[in-house]
Amino acid sequence: MSDLSIATQLVHAGERRAAPIGVPAATPIYATSTFVYERMEDVDRVVEGEIKDYVYSRYGNPTVAALEEAVARIENGKFAFAFGSGMAALHAALLACELAPGATVLASQDLYGSSLELLYTIFGSFGVKTVIADFSEVENLREKALELKPRVLIGETISNPLLKVLDIEACAKIARDSGAKLIIDNTFATPFLCQPINFGADFVVHSATKFLGGHADATGGIVVAREEFDRPALMGALTLVGGVLSAWEAHSILRGLKTLALRLEKQCRNAERLAEFFLSCPQVEKVIYPGLTTGAEAETVARILRGRFHGAVVGVRLKEDSREYVYKFMNALNLCTRAASVGDIFTGVVHPATATHREMSPARRAKLGISEGLLRVSAGIEEVEDIISDIKQAFETVEENNHRFIRINADGKRRLKTDLSKNQIYQNETV
Ligand code: PLP
Repeated sequence: MSDLSIATQLVHAGERRAAPIGVPAATPIYATSTFVYERMEDVDRVVEGEIKDYVYSRYGNPTVAALEEAVARIENGKFAFAFGSGMAALHAALLACELAPGATVLASQDLYGSSLELLYTIFGSFGVKTVIADFSEVENLREKALELKPRVLIGETISNPLLKVLDIEACAKIARDSGAKLIIDNTFATPFLCQPINFGADFVVHSATKFLGGHADATGGIVVAREEFDRPALMGALTLVGGVLSAWEAHSILRGLKTLALRLEKQCRNAERLAEFFLSCPQVEKVIYPGLTTGAEAETVARILRGRFHGAVVGVRLKEDSREYVYKFMNALNLCTRAASVGDIFTGVVHPATATHREMSPARRAKLGISEGLLRVSAGIEEVEDIISDIKQAFETVEENNHRFIRINADGKRRLKTDLSKNQIYQNETV
């Protein structure tokens, strides 16, 4: 090596050392795009699948594989593939269901806004038809599925943002009876609260950006499959579209997984306390939380969500149903973040009408119950009483400012009103 020029040594020195005999306690970040072999015959055997190893990181990477193995196991699936985001994972799961032109997808009306948009726009442009339905009306859903013979049924364990808990068991039966695959987005529940494969789901999808990672420092997605049979289709969707997860992100998410149970237990407790607090607030019209459901809904919640926990997210419908009031309230928060995400270690407040469901028409939002005064609160792991103090002071600040407004008006000054509405084109929507 020493007889080579500095430029050559800089490229090769110190690299490709033999693996240590001791196994690293934590999975290292394999920040490499490609893998080098001594013998071409070994490359052949790996590419042919005779031996399980790595050639090129789009086809597999040890750090990413560690995450895939972990999530497959905790979701009770046969295997999993990780993707660069939750949307890429969802796209791949849909592709793996072999959606051809003329095929129908029966989607829950409560699906995350971008998931519906993906179906309408990307899959719609290839001739796939999406029909939405209320998945909580099981008998109607059965009728629709038997009539439409969809390729796919798709729903969320806990919907975003209205937090409806899906009867996955009933949906799986409907899917089987109508010859469809069932895809469940388990992002809001996580395997700590629900393992959809145990109820008959074919594919479980996660935005790992949320609870699995949990620290707002990684974007990723994952698909877990119930049957080994689906491996080639999903592998094709991963390697040919190429939306792979990087080893760096995989490492962050894998580390996040270690504390998922601890975090979620605290987050669920905090969410319960926040729900209780919001119930006592005069500014609040309704609190939406799976733990507050009654009757048949409560039976579904108890059967589908494991243990005594009901999720880390709370919906709050304010009496003042205006964007102006909501923005003032959110702007007055000091501790709760206004981050457009969910499932992080910090408490975050989102305005679904202008965030997750921004692209939906106001008419459709109104029909679904995503009103201007609806807030989605994702509980973090902080001391919950500090969060409650922050929310209290934000309500007080808004009210004080409103009173000040009235005094100014009484002095003859005019109030400025901001029109936050926006003209948009809404595609493919049935209101
Ligand atoms: N599924 C749900 C329920 C989500 O809330 C989101 C994002 O908010 C996604 C999927 C998409 O995930 P990502 O942002 O990681 O692409």
